[in-house]
Amino acid sequence: MNRSPATKDRIKVHRPSQHSAVSTAPVHPRLSRPGRRPKKPIIPTLLRFIDGFLPLPSYGTFDAEMHRRGRLLVASCFGFFVIALFFGIQMSQVDQYPLTSVLIMFSGCGLSIANLILFRWTGSTTAPGALLCIEALAIQSFQAFHDMGLNDPVLLWMLVIPWLAAFLVSPFSGFIFGGLVALIAGAFFALDLSGYVFPNFTEQAYSLFYFLELSTLGLFLGFLGWLYEGQTLKNLREAHHKLAIAHTDLQKSNRRTEQILESITDGFFSLDHDGCFTDLNPQAEFFLEEPRSALLGRDAREYFSGDVGQEIRGRLRSAAKERIPVDFETFYEPLNRWFKVHVYPFAEGLSVYFNDITERKNYERGLIEAKEEAEQLAQLKSTLLANMSHEIRTPLTSIIGFAGILAQEATGNHQEFASLIGQNGQRLMDTLNSVLDLAQLERGALQYNPIYVDVADETAQIVQLLKPLADDRSLYLRTECVTEDVMAAVDKSLLNRVLNNLIGNAIKFTNEGGIVVTVSGCETRVSVAVSDTGIGISKEFMPHLFDEFRQESTGLARAYEGSGLGLAISRRLVQTMGGHIEVESEKNVGATFTVHFPRTVAAQPSEDD
Ligand code: ADP
Repeated sequence: MNRSPATKDRIKVHRPSQHSAVSTAPVHPRLSRPGRRPKKPIIPTLLRFIDGFLPLPSYGTFDAEMHRRGRLLVASCFGFFVIALFFGIQMSQVDQYPLTSVLIMFSGCGLSIANLILFRWTGSTTAPGALLCIEALAIQSFQAFHDMGLNDPVLLWMLVIPWLAAFLVSPFSGFIFGGLVALIAGAFFALDLSGYVFPNFTEQAYSLFYFLELSTLGLFLGFLGWLYEGQTLKNLREAHHKLAIAHTDLQKSNRRTEQILESITDGFFSLDHDGCFTDLNPQAEFFLEEPRSALLGRDAREYFSGDVGQEIRGRLRSAAKERIPVDFETFYEPLNRWFKVHVYPFAEGLSVYFNDITERKNYERGLIEAKEEAEQLAQLKSTLLANMSHEIRTPLTSIIGFAGILAQEATGNHQEFASLIGQNGQRLMDTLNSVLDLAQLERGALQYNPIYVDVADETAQIVQLLKPLADDRSLYLRTECVTEDVMAAVDKSLLNRVLNNLIGNAIKFTNEGGIVVTVSGCETRVSVAVSDTGIGISKEFMPHLFDEFRQESTGLARAYEGSGLGLAISRRLVQTMGGHIEVESEKNVGATFTVHFPRTVAAQPSEDD
């Protein structure tokens, strides 16, 4: 039998290793001894010959089990062919056999070949196996009918049929063919009993024995085949079942991973060690503007090519080379968007997560622009204030001065008008000074020169200056010093402005009674408390007391002059000196503002207040 090279390859694929080891081991010409031919083992050679008739591996699941059965089928077909040929020749030489018997035997040969062809065509042993069993059964039955040949040795073939069927067709078909053998034997026995004369009958009286022998042996062999093949198939089914479960678990796990990747809002893609896309989620498809199918297997360096992808390429390369996670923000020109990218190396390459941060970037840019604008405005404000200081204060000083001279020289109504001009001019000057002070504080341009002073003396001097104001409103104003040592490190000018403001407010907001200014000291600080019997401060207004431009009475109900800046400035000045202000007040009873100064020079402004 000639075998093509293709057939050789096929055998290598399916043959168990022990055979291939024997058959394919090369013998080096120089190593082989002259005159000694390499030994050719018979069984492997025979198996190679049989394998030449097996179907191609491309036929479905042609596994090791199928291979075993395939060999059995091929061997059976050949066995059947040889027996049919042998008996066909023998019958043709004996006169007592009619031509039909001879022809049937020869057609058995043809059918064996047909089975082999069918096997190669279908790639399964089921159909050719069933046909082979039927053919064998039919031919042997015909033979038996001719000579009531239950004693003919060839009929032993019949016993092989159930066993063959169990292997080649299905485990249970062994029983069916075993039953058929029993049926045929039973039919002959019945014919024999009924007195039927078989054409070439030789011996009588043994028909019962042959019937029993054939039928029980046939069923027994069918049973053996079922037992063996049934168990093999059961094992196979169990293995298949386990495999199916593992496959389902794997599919579920894959699906879960896919769902996780789909559910995250970040874009995700992974690259293998060659830099080709191995996976990506829908968000990545959306941002990369290419379908998954077009990206998978494609080289990422080619996708992020040119100058626009230079940064991304570089980052991916360094993450892959150094095997460390890389985070970066990049502007991707083709999409006109900013992305935050995280690159993580893993065993099979790189995983890359990225999200669109264009809005955040725009917001940040807006903030920077706003900051720059605010800085420009602040610069403008400083210029304006500097100009205000010069352009308003200078003429205002002249107005106040000349109004004073006029008030002294004029008489009657004119004197009153001149003093009103002077008063309002002064009021305007106070407001201007407050605004300029605040601007100076905000710029941080305030000069602070602390020296040790006796706070009681300083307070007494200020009170002395403000006394006429209190007298005008028929209020008492006095100073009390309850501690001997009230020395503290303060800036005299700042202390002056703070106490002026607090005592001025006390005079302004008190209609009856008066004001007591108490100076006291403890180990670490010196305190000045300004208590009045005035209108007091409501609980609601208390939190806003030190806010800029805030006054308790506003709008038309406003009964007191002022800009609402005095306390805001005073607090900042006190903080500059390292102290703080406390307030206690009851509406319509009075208010007490207490300022605490540290005895030593303050290192930095206190934020206690
Ligand atoms: P201004 O006195 O110019 O209005 P201030 O900042 O000095 O501004 O004071 C803010 C507000 O606090 C005042 O308008 C007033 O309502 C309240 N206030 C300040 N001192 C007193 C006080 N001694 N008694 C009652 N209310 C006061």
